[in-house]
Amino acid sequence: MTPFTYGRAQNVDDALELGARPGAKYLGGGTNLVDLMRETIERPVALVDVTQLDHEIEERADGSLLIGAATRNTALASHPAVRARYPVLARAITAGASAQIRNMATVGGNMLQRTRCAYFYDDDGGSRCNKRHPGQGCDAAEGINRYHAILGASPSCVATHPSDMCVALAALGAVVHLRNAEGERALPFTDLHRLPGDQPELETHLWPGELITAVELPALAFGARSTYRKVRDRASYAFALVSVAAALELDGDTVKDVRIALGGVAHKPWRAWKAEDALRGQPATAEAFRAAAQAELAQAQPLRHNGFKVELARRTIAAVLAELKEMKA
Ligand code: SF4
Repeated sequence: MTPFTYGRAQNVDDALELGARPGAKYLGGGTNLVDLMRETIERPVALVDVTQLDHEIEERADGSLLIGAATRNTALASHPAVRARYPVLARAITAGASAQIRNMATVGGNMLQRTRCAYFYDDDGGSRCNKRHPGQGCDAAEGINRYHAILGASPSCVATHPSDMCVALAALGAVVHLRNAEGERALPFTDLHRLPGDQPELETHLWPGELITAVELPALAFGARSTYRKVRDRASYAFALVSVAAALELDGDTVKDVRIALGGVAHKPWRAWKAEDALRGQPATAEAFRAAAQAELAQAQPLRHNGFKVELARRTIAAVLAELKEMKA
């Protein structure tokens, strides 16, 4: 491991000052960053511990929730307001990792975890990876790519984003609150992460040294009728092959509104805008659910080993919507 300094920020200004040093990294629970440092894939010169910053969950008068970025994943998933009003988020978080990891991981850190592409981690083995070494090539594109992307990938990178929590945040229309040296700003969650394009080493739209301070969940009248389904190789402690976060609002037998996001299929949590557009105003039938899923997956570009994900994603979207239709909310 490369030598580094460690400092614990007592407040946001403190964190920004320490984080302004070139090569510094913010440290949440460390459940991904420390692994990457052990593998020498990440080599920060300074770690700025931000776990003492805001870890409150504020229920606001307009019905939204404001969640401090240092909130632990377990605390968020078990919060009564989250369980009652956004069950998709509670279920997504508890579908991820292990209880021990969820106890450590923070909301801000979860958003910034990096892909689990095996070639990305294989620096010692000599695998080529544009994300580790820009311009080097991508061994996953023609290698073992069963876990890789079917949507929004590029010849430079076919990696997927590993988070479950982020899929729910994408579906719920969350907003990320940020602080930087010039002040504060807010970003729609769906704009936080990037698609790989020809610069897969750039994973977010954060500015250098910028700090995630909170995430806001807007009030969603039909949020109680929401869920998360994760399809994976084994029942626990596995990343998604495909996952679906969705919320459904019905007017009689008609879809009044719907939110759908996919995990395990792209370089970022994938908001299924096309499926949503195809479904609003349609009868809530199995045929309409299937057509909406097809509308989204029509743009899929599978790789040699992951063609199964296209049909798996279609079926999972349709199954989740059918489950929500029957849910008492
Ligand atoms: Fe690297 Fe992306 Fe290719 Fe994986 S898919 S080897 S992360 S460039």
